[in-house]
Amino acid sequence: MFTHYDLHTHSRQSDGTLTPTELVGRAAAAGVEVLALTDHDTLSGIEEARTAAHAAGIRLIPGVEVSVTWNRQTIHVVALNVDPDAPDLRAGLARLQEFRVWRAEEIGRQLAKAGIEGATAGARRHAHGVLISRTHFAHYLVETGRAKDVRAVFRKYLVRNKPGHVTGQWAGLEEAVGWIRAAGGQAVIAHPARYRLTNSKLRRLIGEFRECGGEGLEVVSGSHSQQDMHNMASLARQCGLLASRGSDYHGPENAWIELGRLPELPAGLIPVWQDWPRHAA
Ligand code: AMP
Ligand code: MN
Ligand code: MN
Ligand code: MN
Repeated sequence: MFTHYDLHTHSRQSDGTLTPTELVGRAAAAGVEVLALTDHDTLSGIEEARTAAHAAGIRLIPGVEVSVTWNRQTIHVVALNVDPDAPDLRAGLARLQEFRVWRAEEIGRQLAKAGIEGATAGARRHAHGVLISRTHFAHYLVETGRAKDVRAVFRKYLVRNKPGHVTGQWAGLEEAVGWIRAAGGQAVIAHPARYRLTNSKLRRLIGEFRECGGEGLEVVSGSHSQQDMHNMASLARQCGLLASRGSDYHGPENAWIELGRLPELPAGLIPVWQDWPRHAA
């Protein structure tokens, strides 16, 4: 029987706009049966999401989307089924959160040089006190009329060679996968088609990822085109990776795709949930 999995979502504990409770309620109403909350670099929403999932009668997979620097580029690794109390993972994420605090100040200084004052304070008003993201800067810059929407802000201000760009110094790949495995979780390369890596670089990333114990590739992502999905499906088959499926939902305002609307995994793939216990809470 088809079970509806969505294994990549955000709440406002990172850069989503819904509370964990609202997210879970909306997912359940949209027909999602197994939902992973995977906020950026924090596990702080898991407990609330778990309670909400219990009430809504769906299954909550504790997760986190870890920011990684690989080959001087930012890569996201989704962790699934981690123990939220695992010490190495918690310590690692705390370090990434601290970097985010410093980076937010630095983005503010850079934007001030470009004539935009008060951006860090403005971004903080859009964050919810847990974690600060470029997305919060984007919301502030839209609010103050610097660009028409979040995507336009990124293009104009927050990416490489733009005034508010600050290079990430995230976890190493091996380090991040190590934290995830020590926490009992599975590591999955998030939205692989979005990095604009050449095919050979992507294969190199996958090779190193597998060597340090990474298991999955997000074949179906809200941010993938049909073509991306087919390319990533071939890659998962060829490289022997498990396949994952996640919307990367951030809230109703800025969704790649609404909850409950993701395509199924293409045929011939081993899903990342293959060996998960069927009826665990
Ligand atoms: P950060 O981890 O703080 O550097 O922010 C990364 C987040 O910004 C991603 O998880 C997306 O939610 C968002 N983001 C990145 N690039 C774009 C873009 N071009 N348009 C809209 N949102 C983006
Ligand atoms: Mn995000
Ligand atoms: Mn991501
Ligand atoms: Mn994400």
